[in-house]
Amino acid sequence: MPTETFEFQVEARQLLQLMIHSVYSNKDVFLRELVSNASDALDKLRLAKLRDDALDADVSDLHIELETDKDARTLTVRDNGVGMSYDEVGQLIGTIANSGTAQFLRELREAQEGAGTEGLIGQFGVGFYSGFMVADEVTLLTRRAGEGQGTRWTSRGEGTYTLERVDDAPQGTSVTLHLKPADPDNQLHDYTSVWKIKEIVKRYSDFITWPIRLVGETGEDGAAAGPETLNSMKALWARSREEVSEEEYHELYKHIGHDWREPLETIQLQAEGTFEYQALLFVPSHAPHDLFTQNFRHGLQLYVKRVFIMDDCEALLPPYLRFVKGVVDAQDLSLNVSREILQQDRHIRMMQRRLTKKVLASVKSMMTGDAERYATFWREFGAVLKEGLVTDTDNRDALLAVASFATTHGDDGTTTLKQYVERMPDGQDDIWFITGESRESIDNSPHMEAFRERGIEVLLLTDPVDEVWVDAVGEYEGKRLRSIAKGEVDLGAREDDKSEGEREQQAEEYAGLLDWMRERLGEEVKEVRLSTRLTVSPACLVADANDLTPALENMYRAMGQEVPRAKRILELNPDHALVKGLNEAYGEREDRSELTDTAELLYSLAVLAEGGRPKDPARFVRLMADRLERTL
Ligand code: ADP
Repeated sequence: MPTETFEFQVEARQLLQLMIHSVYSNKDVFLRELVSNASDALDKLRLAKLRDDALDADVSDLHIELETDKDARTLTVRDNGVGMSYDEVGQLIGTIANSGTAQFLRELREAQEGAGTEGLIGQFGVGFYSGFMVADEVTLLTRRAGEGQGTRWTSRGEGTYTLERVDDAPQGTSVTLHLKPADPDNQLHDYTSVWKIKEIVKRYSDFITWPIRLVGETGEDGAAAGPETLNSMKALWARSREEVSEEEYHELYKHIGHDWREPLETIQLQAEGTFEYQALLFVPSHAPHDLFTQNFRHGLQLYVKRVFIMDDCEALLPPYLRFVKGVVDAQDLSLNVSREILQQDRHIRMMQRRLTKKVLASVKSMMTGDAERYATFWREFGAVLKEGLVTDTDNRDALLAVASFATTHGDDGTTTLKQYVERMPDGQDDIWFITGESRESIDNSPHMEAFRERGIEVLLLTDPVDEVWVDAVGEYEGKRLRSIAKGEVDLGAREDDKSEGEREQQAEEYAGLLDWMRERLGEEVKEVRLSTRLTVSPACLVADANDLTPALENMYRAMGQEVPRAKRILELNPDHALVKGLNEAYGEREDRSELTDTAELLYSLAVLAEGGRPKDPARFVRLMADRLERTL
């Protein structure tokens, strides 16, 4: 039958180059990747057969075989699973559909040869290609379950691969690695060595639920012996914690989490009673790069009585715990259960509630037991968890209890709400916060001035979700959560504050200017008033207590919702020389055209101070340059 030659897609070629000139110091992982693929293929066939008994496939002895040949220097990984069709081989093996791949390549280049690169291998589905770390040619022979004809794929990893139809292919897939020449100085990496293969399987793939058999030369003397099963196939989630080593848990995590790194936390749950299930959950140590994208694939693996049912089962955890990986094995679900049914199933909802509480409890114990680990957790996943403050009212208190926030108080600069409230001095009734895009921009915001001067603690909230949850939650232990950039602030009287009388007098003095400015700037602001929150800056913008903040407005617009632009309030600092001078000039002059420009500049300065940009930057620059020139 004719052999066709194809070119790898550009990204695939780049990845192959990386594999060939291996950037990974631990080459052993290639075997884990191939065994993992084989195990998935067996899961899929088992499921397909369950769904369609007429499928022409033998599922009586599903297994994985490893065969080494010292003379030919080959290693074959074989499964009798679901296999691939001719077209699928081209699509799945010849291209990289995963949109994360470009990102992967970028990160890899940035990380160079550093230790960081290894963590990237599993994350992006480059599994099969890892064979090229140890082989200079790879052959894959496969036949899709139910089809008569098979396909042979061959490549040296150098830009092209060939495809050929084969008549007598056995069920499933076999991948044969033609190993690179042996390195006489490094016997440790001889992948035709039986003990080496045994060691790798034991270390990385012991928990695989299908038998992994060694065939061919299994004895050290090279004599053929019967197949030997290398893995114990223990379902770790069904065993008690004492029986399982930390390392075994971690390897399972790496398999299901497609991650190379250790998990941060392992959580086990065994529910007995009318609806029995076991769960083994993992909190990764790093947030994946696409956690906040629409098509982030999340969810747990669902098993029913040890039979793999589906990946990415979202119904088992709420979206704000989408970073959690793991396995749930239920005793009393139908093997034919579909995603749609799961979404509505009462037992699944109960399971979701229980698993959610369990994860939150484990965050709580990290918080109280291991500050450093908790800090890592919160850095990586805090922004996601806070989504729960909006969406999961049942667990709001538990979430508030484990949440921490950057604050102006203290050196390490983070606090819980509880700690904040405990520190509140007499006379302070509210929990103050400010939201913004970055720590720097809000640290220097004019809104902070009076708070800083009076030593009032302010929470510094910089995640997009912060804009939303503070409104949804509203208060904590009876204390209102209040933005320092919204509404009027009354921070209580101090000795060197102005007296009531002085304030009234000042209000009178400025009344004319304020009215006039509101008229001039009416397009932009709904009110101009004197400020109690400024000490250094001449002006700032604030929102009405019930208005959306500009960031929130932008967020809604990004989501495609129409929201009117809320006009803001311009506050002036009556003790600032510029504002004073403007008031005097206003009182003295007949021609106020010059002053109109100054009022506009003052407004633009307030916009700039909070990180915004003037509506007409060129005009702003002209006015500013003109003023500066006159100071020379
Ligand atoms: P990943 O496993 O992360 O998806 P791979 O490059 O390892 O990435 O594999 C790509 C795809 O090729 C798999 O998702 C699977 O559909 C298919 N595949 C790989 N190995 C096998 C196999 N042994 N049997 C059937 N399909 C396979």
